[in-house]
Amino acid sequence: MTAAIIDGKQVAEEIREGVAKAVEKMVAEGGPRPGLATVLVGDNPASHTYVRMKRKACAEAGIESIHHELPADATQEKVEGLVRELNKDPKVHGILVQLPLPAGLDEEAVLRAIDIEKDVDGFHPINIGRLAQKGRDPLFVPCTPAGCIKLLKKAGAKLEGAKAVVLGRSNIVGMPAALLLVKENATVTICHSRTKNLAETCREADVLIAAIGRAEMVRGDWVKPGAYVIDVGINRVDDDTKKRGYRLVGDVAFEEAKEVAAAITPVPGGVGPMTIAMLLDATQRAAQRAMP
Ligand code: NDP
Repeated sequence: MTAAIIDGKQVAEEIREGVAKAVEKMVAEGGPRPGLATVLVGDNPASHTYVRMKRKACAEAGIESIHHELPADATQEKVEGLVRELNKDPKVHGILVQLPLPAGLDEEAVLRAIDIEKDVDGFHPINIGRLAQKGRDPLFVPCTPAGCIKLLKKAGAKLEGAKAVVLGRSNIVGMPAALLLVKENATVTICHSRTKNLAETCREADVLIAAIGRAEMVRGDWVKPGAYVIDVGINRVDDDTKKRGYRLVGDVAFEEAKEVAAAITPVPGGVGPMTIAMLLDATQRAAQRAMP
């Protein structure tokens, strides 16, 4: 079997076009132009790149981006104070605090300070708590895991009753991805660095989400024939044939796994583009919710 390749770039593009149309409709009908505030603390180069990409995507979707930068030595009070100001600003519908925060800052307290109506990243403890509870619905869910579910559905995976395995239990990807799968009525196993018999566990999965940050660790013979495989990992491996000296690979050995799976996401061009698309979608929804 050769797997269908799930084109995350294409799906993300469709979502972004949908958001842009919804924004223009809202504005044409006298509603507000959605605004996303980005808060960047410190000078982590990767964080700067991510925020730049998010702001560019906002502009393309007609969403106003309001950017704030604080120095790496900003106090807890200062960061939380900025978040509280943004909570009060009617032009701001979504607040994104770029993680990780510099060491010494209490990340959970900062996330808790965000108004849950503006928590477009879905990391507020109340939104995460609702995600974990039966019969409760979060207002927003973390964007990368939301993108994974969207891709699974687009690929035609049947989630209800499926055996799903999630590799990784981080707050931003693995755990919320597992909780979203439970909400879709899948039966979920969460694996991590202390899990025994990882390959065997993966082989039972109808749906496999890999989010461990280990280059091509999931081999083809870990994949159940006909499984749906979502590869969240982004890893650099040395490659002298590339001008920049490296290439990006996922957590799954793509060439092997695609011979076994029903459908699989590539890296790059799979989950990656979905994160920003889901963030734009959440921001537009936040603005819609704020309308009288
Ligand atoms: P973390 O490092 O926070 O978490 C990694 C998880 O994988 C942990 O739960 C860890 O277990 C587990 N793990 C690590 N090594 C192994 C192993 N050998 N066997 C089994 N489990 C293992 O990473 P993130 O969740 O933040 O990110 C995961 C990957 O996804 C990264 O490559 C990252 O770059 C990528 N990513 C991609 C995004 C996108 O496409 N937009 C967004 C975010 C992340 P334990 O808990 O026991 O330590």
